[in-house]
Amino acid sequence: MATPNPLFAQTKECPLCGQSFSITRIRSSAVRVQERRPDFQVIYQGVNPVHYQVWVCPACHYANLDRDFDQPRRASQLLGELKSRYREEPDFQGERSLPTVLRAYQLAIQTALLSEASNGVKGSLFLRGAWVAEESGQHALARHYVDQARQFYEQSFASDRDPGKLSGPSLLYLIGELNRQCSRYTEAIQWFSRAAQHRDMRREPEIDRLLRRQWDLTKEQMADGNTKTTVPSKTAVSAVASTSASTVTTTSSSPDATSALLTSNRNPVPEATLEAKPSSSAKVQAKEPSKSLTIKLTEEQYKWLVEVTRVALRQGKMMTPDAVIRAMIDAANETSPPLTGFDSEQTLKTIFTRLWTHC
Ligand SMILES: [Zn+2]
Repeated sequence: MATPNPLFAQTKECPLCGQSFSITRIRSSAVRVQERRPDFQVIYQGVNPVHYQVWVCPACHYANLDRDFDQPRRASQLLGELKSRYREEPDFQGERSLPTVLRAYQLAIQTALLSEASNGVKGSLFLRGAWVAEESGQHALARHYVDQARQFYEQSFASDRDPGKLSGPSLLYLIGELNRQCSRYTEAIQWFSRAAQHRDMRREPEIDRLLRRQWDLTKEQMADGNTKTTVPSKTAVSAVASTSASTVTTTSSSPDATSALLTSNRNPVPEATLEAKPSSSAKVQAKEPSKSLTIKLTEEQYKWLVEVTRVALRQGKMMTPDAVIRAMIDAANETSPPLTGFDSEQTLKTIFTRLWTHC
């Protein structure tokens, strides 16, 4: 029996200009997964679905991933901007050559940039573009696209309400892996560390497995480069990440290490528990033994803290919530006289407010 053609055609109407055109799709029975790469690239035997995921309107050159094609953003402005950039393009219908696939992704990236797509979408397009560029033997272009994907995913983590199709642990892990691919090993370890501490990591064993493997690889690559950076212990992070939110943890090596659980009764959010762990960031330069303190915050307090860390991220600085808390404690410690005369959270807050509004 003859093998059916894996490709078939469908008619599509462009949501931007109204032109009807033919798109090429792949029969699901023809898709054969061969392997999965650490940056989520799937290698297929035979026909590659990634080559046909971008649809391009032949009339206005609006291009987008199949899943997003029917919802163009900034449609009225976008059509005019695409017209002003119009040039001859290859035929995207039917079987695509690698240069045609690459051009389809470049047009999709152009659409995403012009239509101000979310950072998650832009990251996703650049990452796929990098795979195709690498497949085409254009290694310098592939490296450039990986770096663009890294930056957009980092911005996605810092600013987007909707991080796209990726879960929290997957996004943090992927940012780490893309940093590793860009030889940014210290940053890669920091992102892996964040991923390891994510409260949902235990629900994603495959990501956890990839994380451990790529973390080890990054340490080897750092050692090869003689990079003198303190790498936090994967075991220590995993231990903290697997600790119940309601459990008091101490990770200090100091024998008299103390620990405490501070709980506010106003709308407590167990998931919002922050675990201040020594060396959770490679940039932490603690001179004294570090001690761990688990606290619970209200949702409002937690959101504020996350927002502060996002400000730092937007400026390209890597900070974790525990680094923000440490900075505040240091500021209080260095500017305040010895604190006395408080017996409740409210009284202490009043003292701090008085001190900090008069200095
Ligand atoms: Zn069109």
